[in-house]
Amino acid sequence: MDCLFCKIIAGEIPSNKAYEDDMCLAFHDIAPQAPVHVLVIPKTHIASADEVSADNSAYVSHIFEVIPAIAKKLGLENGYRVITNCGEDGCQSVKHLHFHILGGKKLPESMG
Ligand code: AMP
Repeated sequence: MDCLFCKIIAGEIPSNKAYEDDMCLAFHDIAPQAPVHVLVIPKTHIASADEVSADNSAYVSHIFEVIPAIAKKLGLENGYRVITNCGEDGCQSVKHLHFHILGGKKLPESMG
């Protein structure tokens, strides 16, 4: 499958890893929009939040179970934002479900 993030999971494209286990991978965004900007992705191809179902939601719940530990490792004691962009109107550019973790400064209140 021609998916950038599947290639990162497979190690075919390098990434700056922040956390990894058998169900997910977290790596630093190549174009950070905050002092800390990490992406967390499931180790199975789910195209977007719109493709989450009972068959694959264990990956999503697992990601949210490990996000606190990832945030702590990144030094985000003062809070952070978790975002997923979905589809055309959500400006999703990579069609593999990913959760942005943004922090390291007071983020803007506006969400769009
Ligand atoms: P989105 O626009 O929500 O689909 O987010 C995709 C994110 O992936 C963007 O923030 C990009 O900067 C990031 N990105 C694209 N290619 C890479 C890469 N090779 N390594 C790390 N981050 C990437």
